[in-house]
Amino acid sequence: MQLKTILNRVEKQPSFVYESMRFIGGGPDSPDMAIEVAVRPRANSRPRCSGCGQTGPGYDTQQSPRRFEFVPLWGIAVFLVYTMRRVHCRQCGVRVEAVPWASGKHHLTDSYTWFLARWARRLSWKEVAEVFHTSWRKVFRSVEQAVEWGRAHQCLDGVEAIGIDEIKWKRGYRFLTLVYQIDAGRRGLLWVGENRRTKTLLRFFRWFGRERSASLKFICSDMWRPYLNVVAKKAAQAAHVLDRFHIAEKMSTAINEIRAQEARELKAEGYEPILKNTRWLLLKRSENLTEKQEPRLAELLQYNLRAVRAYLLKEDFQFFWEYRSPYWAGQFLDRWCTRTMRSRLEPLKKVARSLRSHRALLLNWFHAKGAISAAAVEGFNNKAKLTIRKAYGFRTYRAMEVALYHTLGDLPGPPVTHRFC
Ligand SMILES: [Zn+2]
Repeated sequence: MQLKTILNRVEKQPSFVYESMRFIGGGPDSPDMAIEVAVRPRANSRPRCSGCGQTGPGYDTQQSPRRFEFVPLWGIAVFLVYTMRRVHCRQCGVRVEAVPWASGKHHLTDSYTWFLARWARRLSWKEVAEVFHTSWRKVFRSVEQAVEWGRAHQCLDGVEAIGIDEIKWKRGYRFLTLVYQIDAGRRGLLWVGENRRTKTLLRFFRWFGRERSASLKFICSDMWRPYLNVVAKKAAQAAHVLDRFHIAEKMSTAINEIRAQEARELKAEGYEPILKNTRWLLLKRSENLTEKQEPRLAELLQYNLRAVRAYLLKEDFQFFWEYRSPYWAGQFLDRWCTRTMRSRLEPLKKVARSLRSHRALLLNWFHAKGAISAAAVEGFNNKAKLTIRKAYGFRTYRAMEVALYHTLGDLPGPPVTHRFC
């Protein structure tokens, strides 16, 4: 069987013919081996204009052939070699032709682009570049192209629930705003924006469109004021839900503050360092503790410490989420807030005050139950953090944005006759 037969099987080009193949390199002066496949247009096929996509009469042929990198075979690079024609287009004038195996001015064939982009979902971009003997830049360009295609062809119909989340990136206080679809049946990252200002979220709604925004039923977010304002303005009909994940985060921050402060005081007064290394004991959900941690926590709870009281209040709050009826959940919330306000635990009182002032949005959670995928925001938040952490090579915002869409976007790809990976 010839290579030509395989090529015609995996990637047949109706208007073009695979011709001669040759093997280059492998010698001492050029150790990189490659297979070059000459391609020519089928007799009396007309070139297609790269401006408008219409076929037209040929004008002339370019001087030197172009090399398009194809999916490697057995670790050997494969290139399609083709001399581009120019087309005399009625609309666009004289233009270089469009070829079906590559987009625009890219030197990679579309098949290779999708091949690299698919691998970039499983490995880091650096690893993909290493494994396939290519450059980081080419992997990035491939992922970018896949993301652009996916975003242009993505179906945004029927989005009823979205989650808005913010994530720190880079050192210092730089934020990204991420918007996810969190419908029970379908989820994915919809949009990424730099910063977390009013303007940032307004840009999302402009992109999403007025009609689609008007059919949103649930919007999950945290208590960040600019988000609350924009949602109230742009999707007033949707039930705005303060979600469990973001509230748990706020409580954890408060507890940690109380614990750290108290640990410092105990040390200053010369007590035993009982609060040392207890951060995760107090922050983890009790069912997630390890066998070693459990007795340590039990011991710690015997002390009358502010950190312990804060921990117990946090644990108690978990019951809130178990309610079915918004009414009884509201009663529970009020009692919890009253108790916390009497606790003299300032950071936790701050949380209680803010829960009180957003009572209605909190109770919306119980109306949304079942319609939204509750753990989705938390899951996405973890994955996004991981993507950002893995992405130490990303110096630019663009690279970061592309990586997030690629890993979390659930974006479609084009229909293909053969999947190379
Ligand atoms: Zn044209």
